[in-house]
Amino acid sequence: MASSSRTASLSLQFIIVGGGIAGLASAFTLRKAGHQVLVLEKASGPAKVRGGLRSPPNMSRILDRWGLGPELAQYAIKGSEISFRLAETGEKVGAMVFHKEIMKGFGADWLYVQYGDVCSWLYALAIEAGATIRYECEVISIDPYGVSATLSTGETIKSDLILGADGLTSLVRRSVVGRTSLSSPNASQLYIINGSVKTEVVKRHEILRDLLREPEMHMWMGDRYVIYGHAVHGYQDYSVTIAAPLRRPYIRSNGDVEVPDFDVDRNSLEPRLQRLLDLMEISDVATPPSQEPLESLVHDSGKVILVGSAANLIPPCQTQDAATGIEDAATLGNLFSRLRLSEQIPSLVSAYEEIRQPRLAEVLPSELRKQQQVTLPANSALRVIRDSGLRAAMAQAVLDWEQADEELLREQWDEYIRMFDYDADEVADDWWIKWGKLMDVEQQNRQEESIRQQRLSGAQMQISIARVLDRRMGMRA
Ligand SMILES: Cc1cc2nc3c(=O)[nH]c(=O)nc-3n(C[C@H](O)[C@H](O)[C@H](O)COP(=O)(O)OP(=O)(O)OC[C@H]3O[C@@H](n4cnc5c(N)ncnc54)[C@H](O)[C@@H]3O)c2cc1C
Repeated sequence: MASSSRTASLSLQFIIVGGGIAGLASAFTLRKAGHQVLVLEKASGPAKVRGGLRSPPNMSRILDRWGLGPELAQYAIKGSEISFRLAETGEKVGAMVFHKEIMKGFGADWLYVQYGDVCSWLYALAIEAGATIRYECEVISIDPYGVSATLSTGETIKSDLILGADGLTSLVRRSVVGRTSLSSPNASQLYIINGSVKTEVVKRHEILRDLLREPEMHMWMGDRYVIYGHAVHGYQDYSVTIAAPLRRPYIRSNGDVEVPDFDVDRNSLEPRLQRLLDLMEISDVATPPSQEPLESLVHDSGKVILVGSAANLIPPCQTQDAATGIEDAATLGNLFSRLRLSEQIPSLVSAYEEIRQPRLAEVLPSELRKQQQVTLPANSALRVIRDSGLRAAMAQAVLDWEQADEELLREQWDEYIRMFDYDADEVADDWWIKWGKLMDVEQQNRQEESIRQQRLSGAQMQISIARVLDRRMGMRA
């Protein structure tokens, strides 16, 4: 399906709070759909972070549709496998193989991309489409009824609709659901620490060179923590992500990202991991979100909408967090490209929520479950079951496609298929076919009725004038 060139015949003003992946992507799709877009971002420019993102097929497919195929071909790395290892020994106990026969069915790849690359591509798309992006603009409050955003400078900007794309600690979300939805950290909660090591540095270390050999991701599963790594940016960087509890609360200093005191006994790690952690440059530390999906993605006024991490609450650096932000943007652009009359705005806003809520309600638990499986406590019975299951599955999964056990593949892929096969544009198109056309017909009926009423009252007026004239003529006669 090619990216649609359909534009709305009624153009709205959108303010987007936050210019991360979800904000820039929404700026692009809404501008392309024919709307005026102003992005307000507190940072000084597009993020240049060197950490890595996993782009699952449901995200890669949309990026490709948006015309980013050449950039992906140049910088993204096509994944062939995720290897599950024990963090303490490095032993490979499991594998998720991206058999090309399965991936062909998705029509898109599992890719490793650099966070900064994705931000700069989306920034270029949004600017080229004509969006306005203002950096160093911190939004300090929004008025959901007056539909305005106030900046730290005191300036207030009005619009027709506001998108909250301001991430996990979203200020806009507070006004939509009345709470930040970030649970207060406790000892067992996982913090996400993101960083990278330059490939030239990795190559200088004999024990690390093997990590670059295959386009695969290594997932080192530890005692209540997980560390994963893969190459990004055309093999120029090696991305490392740690999800671990902290020994003491992390205080974010102004601007600089400090090394948090994560609760992992470094001496217990396999030698490669110890070396990687020594070399890693940290680019971001994220606070754990709440595990409850949001009850609403839209403010009662119908004028404020949440997208990306502000809406999905998926822990950062999981498989689907950036992907769902991309899906949100595709859904909004698709729906709002059909806008013809201002009466349709509430229905399109509700449609966004109706489409995205069930998707997020499926993705969030799936992501949390996967995170839980790879961070099971040492010596727990569940961990023993997990490892023996992984070992048994690996014996099958690494086989050629022809020889692999069909039942096992189906079991292994069942959930992934639901995640990867989702096509945000197709879902929005389906919604339109089912409900949107109806909305159009209703609108048309209402318009025809109003024209009929006008004609009727025009005709009645003519009759009255004729009667008055008749009466006058009669009087004269
Ligand atoms: C600097 C940074 C680096 C990251 N690096 C990685 C990575 O390497 N790998 C990975 O998997 N994930 C990374 N993430 C997380 C990842 O971006 C998100 O999990 C996911 O992509 C969701 O994106 P988002 O656009 O919804 O939210 P975010 O990426 O959190 O973007 C939100 C944006 O809103 C801006 N903002 C917040 N509040 C305000 C306000 N009041 N006024 C104006 N602007 C505001 C923020 O500055 C930010 O740019 C990173 C996030 C950030 C912010």
